[in-house]
Amino acid sequence: MGTRGREIVDLDVNELIKLLNNAFADEWLAYYQYWIGAQVVKGPMREGTVAELLQHATEELTHAQWLCDRIIQLGGEPLLSPEALLKETCCGYLTPSDPYVEEILKQNISGEQCAINAYKHLMDFTKDKDMITYNIALKILEQETEHEEDLQAILEDINIMMERVKR
Ligand code: FE
Ligand code: FE
Ligand code: MG
Repeated sequence: MGTRGREIVDLDVNELIKLLNNAFADEWLAYYQYWIGAQVVKGPMREGTVAELLQHATEELTHAQWLCDRIIQLGGEPLLSPEALLKETCCGYLTPSDPYVEEILKQNISGEQCAINAYKHLMDFTKDKDMITYNIALKILEQETEHEEDLQAILEDINIMMERVKR
């Protein structure tokens, strides 16, 4: 990367690149979990849920792009294989083996909550030390917070509907 751009980063750049690659792995797995979930999901509110899952998938891929750009800018190497993604992920991957809408939503909500923690950590780590990564983490955190809320709102609607049916 540009030498001066790297010099102004006031922390261990290798440790920073490692954190960025952990997040990069999480984003790819989140992308796939959303995308495949949208293909197989079944149950109430299917149509709206599919649209939301696909929208989130696209946004996770954008997060992966932002992280990859920053890794390369810092002179790092983005993870190059699916094996590396599985090895370096912090938030992991929840296989949607039960396609029922409520299960898919719960799995993705737990992924979002892990992502929120991870970006909060990345912001704490870079605060006043690397404004560029801090800003990327903030942009992503804003979207992950929105994702969590979107999914919890669908789940809430499904629960309201189920309660009505029981009456
Ligand atoms: Fe994301
Ligand atoms: Fe997300
Ligand atoms: Mg959304």
